[in-house]
Amino acid sequence: MDAPAGELIIAEPGIARLLAPNPSAYTFTGTQVHLVGESELAIIDPGPEIPQHVDALLAAIAGRPVVAILVTHTHRDHSPASRALGQATGAPIMGCAPLTLDEGTRADAGFDHHYSPDRVLGEGDGIQVDGRRLTAVFTPGHTSNHLCFADEASGALFTGDHVMGWSTSVVIPPDGNMGDYMRSLEKLRQRSDRIYYPAHGEPVTDPQRLVRGMLTHRVQRERQVLRLVGEGNRTVEMIVHAAYPGIDPRLVPAAGASVLAHLLDLRERGLVQSQDEQWTPSD
Ligand SMILES: [Zn+2]
Repeated sequence: MDAPAGELIIAEPGIARLLAPNPSAYTFTGTQVHLVGESELAIIDPGPEIPQHVDALLAAIAGRPVVAILVTHTHRDHSPASRALGQATGAPIMGCAPLTLDEGTRADAGFDHHYSPDRVLGEGDGIQVDGRRLTAVFTPGHTSNHLCFADEASGALFTGDHVMGWSTSVVIPPDGNMGDYMRSLEKLRQRSDRIYYPAHGEPVTDPQRLVRGMLTHRVQRERQVLRLVGEGNRTVEMIVHAAYPGIDPRLVPAAGASVLAHLLDLRERGLVQSQDEQWTPSD
C-alpha cells in the first residue's frame, strides 16, 4: 500500500518518491513525485501547487543541490509545483514543451497554462545527476508533449502518465491522440527497461508484460468500438454505455473521451465516418 502523502519512500538506491496530497478519481492516491540521486537530486514531476506539498518536498530535499526539475507533461497534477520549487531551490525547470492550446475548442481546464521551462528537452536529450544520466523519451499520446525519462544505467523508466501503475492512461482529444498513444506504447515495448516508476500508482516490476497487455487491451477496445458503431450505436454516449456497463459515473467523461479518441483514430484510418457527431461505418 502507498505511504501517506508527504512521506519520503526510498524505492532503491538513488531513487525515492513522495506522494502529493491530491487523491481523486483521476489521480488515484495522488501524484508520485520522484527524487533521483543522493548527494544531488533531480526532481521528476514536482506535482500540484499545494503549499504543504511543496514544504514536504523541500523537507525531503533537505538542502541538497537540485540540478533540475523535470516535467513529463503539463497536466495540473504534474507541473505547477515546478515554479515554487524552482524559486525555493534555484533549480532550472526542464522537460516537455509548453502547450499552447487554442482558446475555445482546444482549451482544456486540465492544463497548466503557466508552465514555462528554462530548457525544453527532446528525444534523446538528457541531464546528469549524481553520476547518472536521465534521458528524455518522447511519448506523445496521453498529451501531445509527453516525455518519459530513462535512467539508462539502472534500467528505471519514469513513465509519467504514459503508463500508470493503477489504470490504463486516459487519452483525451483534441490534445490526446490515440494513434500517437499506441505508437508510444509500441516504442516502450521495444525497450528493455527493468522497472517503471509511474506518476500514479505503484512501481511496475514487469513492464514488458504490462505494455503488451495494454496494447492488446487497446486493440480489443478499438475492435469493440468499431463493432458497436456497426451495430448502430451512433453517438459517443451510446457507445460508452454499451462498452462500459456499470461504469463509475465519475469516470463517464473520461470513458467518453477515450471512445472519441478511438473514433478519431479510426476515422483517420478510413474505417468510420462522422457527421454532426453521428458516427457510422465507412461506405
Ligand atoms: Zn496527465
